[in-house]
Amino acid sequence: MRSEPHQKPAPTRSENLTSAEARARLETYGPNIVGETRITPIWKILLRQFTGFLVLLLIGASLVALLLGETVDAVAIGLVVLLNGGLGFMQEWKAETSLAALRDMLRPRAKVIRDDVPVLIDSRDIVPGDLVLLEAGDQVPADAGIASAIGLRVDESVLTGESVPVSKDTDGVDQRDQVMMGTNVTAGRAEVVVSATGPATAFGKIATLTGSVEERGTNLSRQLGRLGGQLGFAALLLGLAIALTGVAVGRDLMEMVMTGISMAVAIIPEGLPAVVTISLALGAGAMARRKALVRRLQAIETLGAASVICTDKTGTLTENKMTASALWIAGKSYKAVGTGYDPAGRILLEDDPVRYGSNPDLDDALDVMVGCSHASLRRDGANWQMVGDPTEGALLTLAYKGWSPVPEDAPLAEIPFSSERKRMGMVRRKGDDLVLLAKGAPEQIMDASTTWRSPDGQVPLDAATRQDIEQIYADMADRGLRVIALAQHKVSAADAPDEDLEFLGLVGMIDPPRPEVRDAIRTCIQAGMSIMMITGDGPLTARAIAEDLSLPVEKLMTGAELEKIDDDALGALLSAPVLFARTAPEHKMRLVRILQAQGHIVAMTGDGVNDAPALKQADIGVAMGIRGTDVAKGASDLVLLDDNFATLKGAIREGRRQFANIQRFVRYLLSSNAGEVVAILINLMLGGPLIYLPTQILWMNLVTDGVTALTLGLEPGTPEQMTAPPRRPDAGILDRWALAMILAFGTYTGFASLYLFYTFQPAGVDVARTAAFTGMILFEKTSVFAFRSFSLPCWRLGWGSNPKLLVAFAAMISLQLLVVYWTPLQQLLHAAPLGWKHWAAIILLSLPLIIVPEIIKTMRLKRDRPTHSH
Ligand code: ATP
Repeated sequence: MRSEPHQKPAPTRSENLTSAEARARLETYGPNIVGETRITPIWKILLRQFTGFLVLLLIGASLVALLLGETVDAVAIGLVVLLNGGLGFMQEWKAETSLAALRDMLRPRAKVIRDDVPVLIDSRDIVPGDLVLLEAGDQVPADAGIASAIGLRVDESVLTGESVPVSKDTDGVDQRDQVMMGTNVTAGRAEVVVSATGPATAFGKIATLTGSVEERGTNLSRQLGRLGGQLGFAALLLGLAIALTGVAVGRDLMEMVMTGISMAVAIIPEGLPAVVTISLALGAGAMARRKALVRRLQAIETLGAASVICTDKTGTLTENKMTASALWIAGKSYKAVGTGYDPAGRILLEDDPVRYGSNPDLDDALDVMVGCSHASLRRDGANWQMVGDPTEGALLTLAYKGWSPVPEDAPLAEIPFSSERKRMGMVRRKGDDLVLLAKGAPEQIMDASTTWRSPDGQVPLDAATRQDIEQIYADMADRGLRVIALAQHKVSAADAPDEDLEFLGLVGMIDPPRPEVRDAIRTCIQAGMSIMMITGDGPLTARAIAEDLSLPVEKLMTGAELEKIDDDALGALLSAPVLFARTAPEHKMRLVRILQAQGHIVAMTGDGVNDAPALKQADIGVAMGIRGTDVAKGASDLVLLDDNFATLKGAIREGRRQFANIQRFVRYLLSSNAGEVVAILINLMLGGPLIYLPTQILWMNLVTDGVTALTLGLEPGTPEQMTAPPRRPDAGILDRWALAMILAFGTYTGFASLYLFYTFQPAGVDVARTAAFTGMILFEKTSVFAFRSFSLPCWRLGWGSNPKLLVAFAAMISLQLLVVYWTPLQQLLHAAPLGWKHWAAIILLSLPLIIVPEIIKTMRLKRDRPTHSH
């Protein structure tokens, strides 16, 4: 839509914008954002409050009341609808803005020159024409032309899938003087002039394509929609039936219509949608504090149903802090000592330190480590900072430990790394020769090698030697080391292919498992989920890491093997824990689809742009906050700010808690409504006057129940939450047990309220109605304690473990006292003052609601104790 104004003429160099001009351009071109869910407009949120089926029914009821001349009630219902809508709007708006604030935590910044001074601005405020400063480690914030550059290299894998950085310059050759949004600067620095922003960039176009994968609705939204529809329908039918029957047996038309409306109002849990939204928003806040950023609110409850977690290895299960520790070169084994990227360690050959110059075999290997790399090391105070790929960083550190010289001139050519080829090469000048320096996955490097560096120099690589090398590789990988092979080849021209190589040796590097992951994996397995590692790394390394983390693996499969079998065979394999190694991103999509077809709810991690379709397809797409590209983040439901698997576990725990809490308050709200329905129905059969007025019902359902239900949504998690299996995806919010509970509470409270109504009627219908209405409110408040847990009594949970619930309980009872004794509220709700007799009866009738469930749960607990987990 906005592509027209982006067709800018070529940028003029080194000019920069004034802030006023930048503001004007921002108006014209729009914000520089891609693949990010924009904040929902205010009017949409507002409209949403009044277009729900339940609310429309209420509006209808109020109109009917108006038509029948019941102006006060019509206005009262209208007011409550408005109040409810207003509350809902405020809650949703708060939820929306706090979510937007959470998203802000992910927002990149960029250094631009405005009014001739460098400033750090939000990347979304960049406009065409802006002069942007780029340096190593920056993400390119928009498409731009290079005005000046020194040794600039850009990793364009986000766009091209090729992860080896490309040199950029101002020479104007074939797009080399352009940088693209979303790509990463790996070396050098540059001044660039922005030519396109937001959706008009190349990156924006890819992101829009990714956006076309269909979004699946969440279970909760579907279930709540269904429940609301059913209840609304029941409300309509019942209301209509009551009104018609009443009129047929000769009762007053007016009274019958009002009863019908009351009935409908009583059945519909008006507070539900708002309570669900705010409860999910609070959940999102809680998760963000634990470093899991929810991008789609309702994904929280999907997390609780996750049955399979597909996770990558490097960085998620491991630290992604590589240290090379073992070397095998020309038949000799070396060790490296020292930690992290600090080059202060040493290389040892049989316990003697060696360094560059000690032997030509080691020299050649070290040359590959330094020369076939984009990483750089920088001293930052006492620490060493590495910029670039951790694998290359580890090799570079190792070379520095051996006092390796650093090449001064740039490489003459590159054969870039890709996830498919899993190897790379660089051509450099070495003395008078041109040499291709290569490194990569050992299988790949060996495939391309015809000779090897033996203790006696370069000799042909025969089958027996291949086997020996494979054995050494396997030994290293078995120890959990990530293994990279090194090779070289003298070439006659810079554009020579990486074939016919001389195999130099192997480097094994430690990428330690994150210490907290082992525990997280155990918890997830206990919680009935299966965990599947899908990694680009080699099978043996992956298996060793899995073993180290106590991750069960029954079958090991490589990407190549996976491509050979069909979906049915693959599906059958997935019933046992499988580890997938040497995979490419597209394999993930296939695995998600198959698992979903088997009825699983799949959580899938990813970071590259190629992962985006799988992240979208997964029920819960999980992007990495540190390693992840913006497109992966944009396609995800959840972002792990620390890339850590343990954080995902925490999010799942929170998701389960949220869903249980939603179940709690849905049950609670419905049991309250059931009580009202029972009272109204029986009262109708008995032929008495209206037991509650429509406005009283709305007051009960919206004001007092809504607030109490909200605090039920704050229940802390219980220990059994992570020992039970994930709920079945088709399991409803209500099961048979829940329905029985709702019915039991409803029957009791309905009859108790009727009892109050009929006992006190001789004193006048207003007092009797106030007693029945106040009684119902007290019953509903006292029963809330029974809904705090489905199995544990409150003395086990701790009466004070949810203090907000106690506050709500006290506040709602105080509010009801105001309704009964404070004139303005009295008048609005047609209440009359109650005496001590009424209160005594109400309190006596409330007590069983708190005592009986406690006794039943305690008895069940005693009975189950021998097998109970705590
Ligand atoms: P994961 O998928 O769990 O994140 P990964 O990082 O090993 O694991 P890839 O990035 O696809 O996955 O890497 C695949 C393989 O390619 C690695 O195991 C390694 O052998 C090789 N490799 C990785 N980085 C480089 C590099 N910079 N140069 C050469 N080879 C590399």
